[in-house]
Amino acid sequence: MSLKPWLDLYPPEIAKTLQYEKIPIQEYLTKTASRFPNKIAIHFLGKEIPYKEFYESALKLANYLRSIGINKGDRVAIMLPNCPQSAIAYFGILYAGGIVVQTNPLYTERELAYQMVDSGAKAIISLDILFPRISKIVKETELENIIIAGLKDYLPFPKNFIYSFIQKKEHGVTVKVEHRGMNHLFTEIMNSSKPHPVHYAFNYDEDIALLQYTGGTTGSPKGVMLTHKNLISNVRMCDEWLYKCKAGEETIMGVLPFFHVYGMTTVLVFSVMQGNKMVLIPKFDMETTLKAIDKQKPTLFPGAPTIYIGLLNHPDIAKYDLSSIKACLSGSAPLPVEIQEKFEKVTGGKLVEGYGLTETSPVTHVNFPWAEERVKGSIGVPWPDTDCCILGPESSDPLPNGEIGEIAVKGPQVMKGYWNRSEETEQAFRDGWFLTGDLGYMDDKGYFYIVDRKKDVIIAGGFNIYPREIEEVLYEHKAIQECVVAGVPDSYRGETVKAFIVLKDGATVSEEELDQYCRDRLAAFKVPRIYEFRKELPKTAIGKILRRTLVEEEKQNLEQN
Ligand code: AMP
Repeated sequence: MSLKPWLDLYPPEIAKTLQYEKIPIQEYLTKTASRFPNKIAIHFLGKEIPYKEFYESALKLANYLRSIGINKGDRVAIMLPNCPQSAIAYFGILYAGGIVVQTNPLYTERELAYQMVDSGAKAIISLDILFPRISKIVKETELENIIIAGLKDYLPFPKNFIYSFIQKKEHGVTVKVEHRGMNHLFTEIMNSSKPHPVHYAFNYDEDIALLQYTGGTTGSPKGVMLTHKNLISNVRMCDEWLYKCKAGEETIMGVLPFFHVYGMTTVLVFSVMQGNKMVLIPKFDMETTLKAIDKQKPTLFPGAPTIYIGLLNHPDIAKYDLSSIKACLSGSAPLPVEIQEKFEKVTGGKLVEGYGLTETSPVTHVNFPWAEERVKGSIGVPWPDTDCCILGPESSDPLPNGEIGEIAVKGPQVMKGYWNRSEETEQAFRDGWFLTGDLGYMDDKGYFYIVDRKKDVIIAGGFNIYPREIEEVLYEHKAIQECVVAGVPDSYRGETVKAFIVLKDGATVSEEELDQYCRDRLAAFKVPRIYEFRKELPKTAIGKILRRTLVEEEKQNLEQN
């Protein structure tokens, strides 16, 4: 029996092992700008930026960073939504030899201070409206410089004027930042700095490109060290997988934020590698996204299940032409089969589920987008050069096919380790296998299935219950828009099953009806004992539902009562 049965499933177009260019990741931008200088790299709310301008802007920033003391290996944070400056900042920091530290613009002062101190960032590139938050925490950190950008600087007329009014309305005052002391203005840098190449010694295997703090759905955030090799490998694998896509001819929908590894790899770096156009949306909302698809005709649309669910449930979806979409990769959470089928029907394109983690740059498994056979509920098969097995609690010998255990991976996309946390790095590996913390199994053909996150398994009255199985059933109910199932404390069963539910607009269903519906489809011990109807569910920036937050809320409520 083959240890990697999935390799026999690969279509002839996909190579089983790949050649990688051992270059710094920013060289993709250098190459693409020389190949397609006038091709549009970024479309941002009506403004278009060609590759030559993108490249020169990144070099200008790199030279400026050097002039303010950023050297090889120094950490520089980016706290921006998807916008031209976030793409320029990413490549500019890398051209300077720095390490990018991605920061969520929604972070509170406390979260931001934690990340700046932990990473030891020397500079941060952010927005005028976020400046007050940053200036409050500067003293606690090693930050020496703040580079401030404005979204309106890259908006076409009259949107730039309208934006200023909206900003004033939302924030009370127009935030004005002066170029003084540690403050620098992004626009001034673009006007004054020169686009010269910056040289430094480079080590493909070892040099860190990115410190990516994990989503934080569990535990305290840790900086994942992703090297140039990790990132080059993952985008090259993506390029091989999407073999029907033509370099320079695709348009990619950029709603996944670049400050999460998933958007950074599958939108930003992949697009630059291929020389495609990115359509950037600073803050995901259904209407803007639908309009952008209708007008900009993206061919690729990486996303997360809640994004596709939101769009499918938009009352005006039929008004928009979504037929340009060829392929969508859904990751970060289970994709309900129901949603996959509906979305494919509406767009005519393919929507396939994939899987990965921040620690794996992120993608390790994906379904075949253009295969005749669709495998329902599977996360797909490992990408080229990626090995995967299912491990029991102690041994490094893979469990037999069909048995549930922890998913473990090896491959060039697996992180170097956690920043300044050697003990946690050691715990994350067993005999060279990276332990994902997800439970799953492999079938005889080589397809993998996620059963659940190790920490999310509900143990009720001695039974192991996997929330995903129950969620799949609930998602098939016509009244349910979104749901998440979690284990909540119970004095008798230890834990019990609770379902948090968001109904579709105008839909109604009672607890009794849902109970009967679940009893008809699930073993009695899995049926939720409690239902809670909510207007919305807490989510991460990429739309992953925060199950842990709900469990914590539940515990706190119980303690207070
Ligand atoms: P992050 O590091 O924030 O990207 O989160 C990674 C985690 O997201 C994984 O360990 C999984 O628990 C979860 N995840 C990613 N893709 C999927 C998927 N297709 N199905 C279920 N869970 C997923």
